[in-house]
Amino acid sequence: MDGKRGLLIVFSGPSGVGKSTVRKLFMTNAHLNLVYSISMTTRKQRPGEVDGVDYFFVDQETFMKNINDGNLLEYAEFVGNYYGTPKDYVDKLRDEGKNVILEIEVNGAEQVLAKCPEAISVFLMPPSFEELESRIRNRKTEPEEVICKRLEKARREMNLLDRYSHVVINKDILLAAEEITKIIESYLKK
Ligand code: 5GP
Repeated sequence: MDGKRGLLIVFSGPSGVGKSTVRKLFMTNAHLNLVYSISMTTRKQRPGEVDGVDYFFVDQETFMKNINDGNLLEYAEFVGNYYGTPKDYVDKLRDEGKNVILEIEVNGAEQVLAKCPEAISVFLMPPSFEELESRIRNRKTEPEEVICKRLEKARREMNLLDRYSHVVINKDILLAAEEITKIIESYLKK
């Protein structure tokens, strides 16, 4: 293989913290050479989401087949749905020298960090739990029962941040994106 293999960056944080907003911002820095790994999920498509861009939306049977065929680098169940990272795509991009971002929850992150100890891990924290709750509620895309489960899950996720090598607080999306850019740059220099 010519050149250097791309970095693998695991990016986590509780539901509603603003991960995808911050991620889209730091991905605009072309010099970071980042590519987003599109996950597979059994969750229903939200308005505005595009199949093959935000996720590959699949049914449970297709997801199970992908697990059994060993196609997933990691997978987890999150509030009643499955989410997983297609392995071949990540490997191909890294072999091409691209730096790959996995925006995944904590159980999947743990699997990736065990399999790929070279991975960089970043956890995005809300400034407070109250702020997180209001962000999840304002999204108005889920019923109350799902909101409560996501909040409960967020509390548990926030207790696991010591697994990550970098923790960034999302007080301001621009500053958070800048902080993550600097973290990635520090690895690119190595
Ligand atoms: P949402 O339903 O809000 O899009 O995602 C729920 C949670 O699943 C988020 O924390 C998101 O980062 C995580 N997630 C998305 N894709 C994957 C994946 O491929 N694997 C794992 N383990 N988590 C994922």
